[in-house]
Formats: sequence, structure tokens, C-alpha cells
Amino acid sequence: MRENWMIEKSGLADLNEKIRNGQRLNDEDALRLYTCPDLNVLGTMANAVNAQKNGNRASYIVNRYINYSNYCILSCQFCSFSRKKRDQDGFELSLEEMQTKAREALALGITELHIVGGLHPSLPFSYYTDMLRGLKDVSSSLQLKCFTAVEILHLAWLSKQSVDDTLRALRDCGLDSLTGGGAEIFQPEVRKQIATGKESAAEYLDVHRRWHKLGGKSTCTMLYGHVESLEDRISHMRQLRELQDETGGFCGFVPLPYQPENNEIPVDRPPTGNDMLRTIAVARLFLDNFDHVTAYWVGMGLKMAQVALSYGADDLHGTIVEEHIFHMAGAGSPQGQTEDAMRKAIVEAGREPIQRNTFYQPVPTKNAVENRPVKKP
Ligand code: SF4
Repeated sequence: MRENWMIEKSGLADLNEKIRNGQRLNDEDALRLYTCPDLNVLGTMANAVNAQKNGNRASYIVNRYINYSNYCILSCQFCSFSRKKRDQDGFELSLEEMQTKAREALALGITELHIVGGLHPSLPFSYYTDMLRGLKDVSSSLQLKCFTAVEILHLAWLSKQSVDDTLRALRDCGLDSLTGGGAEIFQPEVRKQIATGKESAAEYLDVHRRWHKLGGKSTCTMLYGHVESLEDRISHMRQLRELQDETGGFCGFVPLPYQPENNEIPVDRPPTGNDMLRTIAVARLFLDNFDHVTAYWVGMGLKMAQVALSYGADDLHGTIVEEHIFHMAGAGSPQGQTEDAMRKAIVEAGREPIQRNTFYQPVPTKNAVENRPVKKP
């Protein structure tokens, strides 16, 4: 078969065999995949694994982002989003403003609110618990995917509770899932260079571990394409894989390509299309205990994310509606996508579009134009 011949020629036949036999890849194997000159071979191998896990389906979620505030006591060097109280363009939303956004979102058929913000210098813990309760009051069916690990640590400090008790309190007020943001890169030296003052890798993993052990689910991320090495990326993914072995609580992995504008870490060569596809493919092959790998269209652009569906990704993330964090860092993608645009992208890639919920489970599609055949260009 031509595919086998291509894999043989690329020198990856032994790794392909390992994968087919259900053997786990080690760091050295992942580095060989990352540096394989033939991107299409990687795509072929990753696609085969994805097809085994997810068949021909590719998912998206109808969601809305809400950033409750961009005031933050930290100053991560890569961050273009955070502001200090003295800044003119800082903001914080009232509960009423968030409820208005939630009502508008519901009218659009949205099933999930994805909510993160900076580490606010003065809002009390009750602001966050009122937020969760108030949004569930708008509709108990809205899934609330909120807060990064460092926000949870901030809220634990604010409420003078343990992390477990903080997570329990937030869950009791309506928190359905943690977000995966803030993982950045776990390698300590790189982490110091791009995000001084942020929680350590161990702390990020511990928050997710504790949430999983309470029965919760979350996603996880990796910010790549800045000052890290390929070895750093692989080590990062391995640590996520180890935690997934322990808890099984990650629904999916979302690699985030670095956006170089408006921050303190100018990078001459931000992630190229080749790097984005390669990263998706390596993640699909290396993270053998993850069901889903997301092509995050906000960072990649929808066209590149669509191509990533042929390189191991099985999810395009969501409609989002209003995105600030990547766009303040210079992302050229639109603020949101229509559900129809996402389905169309999936169908054009030859895949069956599935609307999913926060936990990557299929939900009935309400709004999309029916899954019609799309004319090939
Ligand atoms: S990345 Fe998060 S914690 Fe760091 S400065 Fe930005 S908002 Fe604050």
C-alpha cells in the first residue's frame, strides 16, 4: 500500500508499528516524529489513530466566551490581555452585564459559557460564587466552564480555603468544568521567561488533579511557538499524559499557537502552518490516553484548523462569539464563528460534523443549516 511505502520511506515504520501494536511512544519517539521531514506521513499516522478513536466524526461546540475582567495582579510577559487599575482600557463586568450576555447567548442556542479573567486585585470571593449562581439562574442547562488553574489558586487565597474546599464551593454554586488555560509550557526556565510569578507546573497539575479527584472534568493546553524547544513541548505533553493516566479527567488537549503581538516576548518566527499541523499530529500520536485533540481556530485560523482535521484533530472548538485574549495578542481570526461556518468547514474536510457539549458528548443540533453536501471548489 502506498501509505505503508511512504511511512517506510520516511524512516518511521518502527514507530508506526509500535503505535499499531498499542505500545506507548517515549520522548525520543516523539522527537523523531516532530523532526520527521515528511509532514504528510505524520498526518497519515495521526489520522489513522484518530479514526480509531473517533471514526469519521469531528466536533464543535456552540459556546460563548465571557471575560469578566482583565485586571490582573500578575504581569506574564507573553500576555497582551491583562491591565492594571490605572489603565484606561481595563474592565470588569457586573453580574447583570454577564447575565445579559448569557441571555443573548441562550437565544443563539449556546450550551456553554467559557469564563476566564485576570487575577483581580480586589473583587471578593462572593463575586465569583454570585457569578456562577447568577448565570445558572439564567438557565440551569447552561454549562459553565470557568477559571484557569491559577485563578483557582487565587480564589483559594482570596477565600482563605484549601484548593479542595474552594473547588467544592465553586462546584456547589454551578461550576461544571475547569478550563485548560494557563498551562503555557511546564519547563521551569521557559516558564520563568514567559510567565514570571505564575503558578508552577506542579501547581497547575495539582489543581486539575484535585478537580478530577472530586469527580470533575477539564481540558488542558500547551502554549507553543515562543522560546521553548521541541523537547520542552514533549516533556509538557508527557506530564499531561501522566496526569491523565492517574485521573482520566481530561476531556481533550488544546494546543495553542503563540501570538506574538503586543507583549514583551517578540518572536521573529511565530508558529508556521507546518508547525501547527505537526504539533497537532504529534499530540495525537503521543497522547494515547486522550480521546480528543482540538484544532483551536482562534489561534490557527479556521482554514488551518480545517486542514488540521486531516492531521489528527477531531474538534474545532467553539463559536466563541467574542474573544479577547488572542485578539489582544494580534490574532487575525474573526471574533467568533457561526455554527454553520464550523459545520461547513468540517463537511468540506470530508468529516461528519457533531455538535458537542462541554464534556465532548454529542448534543442535538438546533441551529445549523442541515448537513448538506458542500460543493467542492
Ligand atoms: S496570563 Fe493570566 S495571570 Fe498572566 S498576566 Fe495575563 S491574565 Fe494575568
